[in-house]
Amino acid sequence: MKIGFIGLGNMGLPMAENLSRAGHEVTGHDVAGVTSEQFATRASAEEAVRDAEVVITMLPGGEILRRVAGAIVPAMRESAVFLDCSTVDVESARAVADQARAAGLSALDAPVSGGIGGAKAGTLTFMVGGDAEGFERARPLFDVMGAKAVRCGQSGNGQAAKICNNMILGITMIGTCEAFALADRLGLDRQAMFDVVSTSSGYSWSMNAYCPAPGIGPESPADNDYKPGFSADLMLKDLRLAQKAAESAGADTPLGLAARDLYARFVEEEDGAGRDFSAMLPRFAGRQR
Ligand code: NAD
Repeated sequence: MKIGFIGLGNMGLPMAENLSRAGHEVTGHDVAGVTSEQFATRASAEEAVRDAEVVITMLPGGEILRRVAGAIVPAMRESAVFLDCSTVDVESARAVADQARAAGLSALDAPVSGGIGGAKAGTLTFMVGGDAEGFERARPLFDVMGAKAVRCGQSGNGQAAKICNNMILGITMIGTCEAFALADRLGLDRQAMFDVVSTSSGYSWSMNAYCPAPGIGPESPADNDYKPGFSADLMLKDLRLAQKAAESAGADTPLGLAARDLYARFVEEEDGAGRDFSAMLPRFAGRQR
């Protein structure tokens, strides 16, 4: 397939390279002038998308996505697929999809989980909103870039699934870290705590698969001095998107709100910036009530 790829950052570049390696004809663009030995790039987004059957965007946020869509939608080939893989607010995802559909394009929002490692290995999970026909056309590309693609319904629902998942993740990580810090104060050994909780009703992905305590459970960023992994900064971004969505939809999410405020403090006022989101454990462990 002919693919235009806009946004060649930490995630976008390896995704585009995987598509090119799989035999697709990729033409890329990034404002920062990123280039690749694997595929051709163009100086403008409009040029990169002109002949593409599918255009993929992997951008920092909703405002930039809206701006880029404003520029490329009119330049795209008729009935092409606009496939946005960025994590953005639900409203921006729906606005861009409406704009694309009004121009006769097929539109999908398909945020990912799996991080930079998953992007490089081609094992991302895609959560996809938009029409079934567009989803089928994009499926061969999901198969190259990822291990799994789940269609979640109408436009914006991919973003909705992503922020709901990450709201649970932020909350359970905080809960797991709090519990370890409490166990420390009570003289309960961390390994014993893991052995009990990981096979009891307190288990979760945060505890069992990504344990925030160094040296315990499977290897995780805690074993690498909390180098991300999934950074606290990106968790904060997603928790903010969840609260924005909760406000506009009138949903009561008190723990999501508390998690957002805690990550905001950790990243913006303490030493959380650039650290893995599981570094909440040393934060709690080092504090006195
Ligand atoms: P990044 O900052 O490394 O990459 C974004 C790229 O977009 C940059 O190279 C930037 O130059 C480019 N860009 C910005 N404005 C542009 C424009 N107007 N035209 C063309 N290019 C433009 O970010 P990333 O880590 O690659 O993340 C991309 C998206 O994926 C974000 O929405 C992020 O939330 C999401 N995401 C990231 C991860 C992760 O672990 N990094 C995991 C899941 C989802």
